[in-house]
Amino acid sequence: MVKTSLKDFKPYERETPIWKIAEEYGLKESQIIRMDTNVSPYLSTKWLKKLQSKLLEIEVNQYPDTSYRSLVEAISEYTSVKHYDRIIPVNGADEGIEIVCEAFLEPGGEVVISTPTYDYFRVSAEIHGGRIVNVERMEDFRDNVVEITSSISEKTNIVFLCNPNNPTGNSVRYDDLIEILENSKNSIVVVDEAYYEYSGKTFIELTESYDNLVIIRTLSKAFGLAGARIGYIITSKKTAGDINLVRPPNSLSTISVELAVIALRDIETVRKNVAKTIKERERMRELLRTIKGLEVYPSEANFILFKTLEWKPSEIYRKLLKRGVMIRNLENIPKLEKHLRVTISLPEHNNKFLKLLEKILKETPPS
Ligand code: PMP
Repeated sequence: MVKTSLKDFKPYERETPIWKIAEEYGLKESQIIRMDTNVSPYLSTKWLKKLQSKLLEIEVNQYPDTSYRSLVEAISEYTSVKHYDRIIPVNGADEGIEIVCEAFLEPGGEVVISTPTYDYFRVSAEIHGGRIVNVERMEDFRDNVVEITSSISEKTNIVFLCNPNNPTGNSVRYDDLIEILENSKNSIVVVDEAYYEYSGKTFIELTESYDNLVIIRTLSKAFGLAGARIGYIITSKKTAGDINLVRPPNSLSTISVELAVIALRDIETVRKNVAKTIKERERMRELLRTIKGLEVYPSEANFILFKTLEWKPSEIYRKLLKRGVMIRNLENIPKLEKHLRVTISLPEHNNKFLKLLEKILKETPPS
């Protein structure tokens, strides 16, 4: 029997597998362009070749080094966080979110979430018995600091922020975070920086002055390693110690750790790919703005949020999918009932999406 607290629980809406879409829409898998998962379109075969040359030396019969020393060293160099005991590698940012909930959530404890945002904050908090306090963002999607700080009480265990935020694309403001930190002396403040490389804005430095600040990052986005499942937490020594109480001993694969180290030692490649994506993002945004019937939001990430003024998002979503372009329909998310999100992909894929969207919006919307 599933535990009582999961009776009315709404699980994470997992991204539909490509074979399922292909079956449903009568397409070949190769005809489908995924622009719904916010991953990088660039696959670094150079890193995979390097991994291949090392593969036969990897002792997969042994458990990984439980301190993930080589990975911690590479993360330390990349982030300039000198103290290894402030770095915790995790099996993707999602595991980071999970273990923070595990370590800090009391049964029935409150979790303040600046919404709309990444739904796994809610999911993980609920799984761990937390009570969600949603604080709606302002009209321009900025965090509502007044509401957030007044929602924080002695019952609050965790506050979740996202920088830049998925799916709205805007960053957390420095002054806003300081205000939240100053009002959260008894709770953990998580800033999810999954898309950090696209904005270049980080709050890592503040982990030196605020013990309760937890930064969660991933190699799934800018590094193009979503399948390898590597992320990391940066926090204070004290909070890292608390998280280490619950961290599973062996959740990262030895092979993925090797690949992550190779990637972290080749930041130049990551920088080049990020620059290409940012250039495409700005080009896409300009072109989207010329299409009638849309409102397009600025973005500091690798995706763009837009609002349809006449069409139902699900109609646009289906029409694009029929032609093999898959984006994210957000109409079931409160405050985003008229919105869609598209991941920046390769120029030719972006062009196909833009052309199809323009054509669809010239038709009369179904009544
Ligand atoms: N945080 C945010 C804000 C995300 O958008 C995602 C992926 N969609 C994740 C975390 C999950 O990252 P990972 O693949 O490292 O688990």
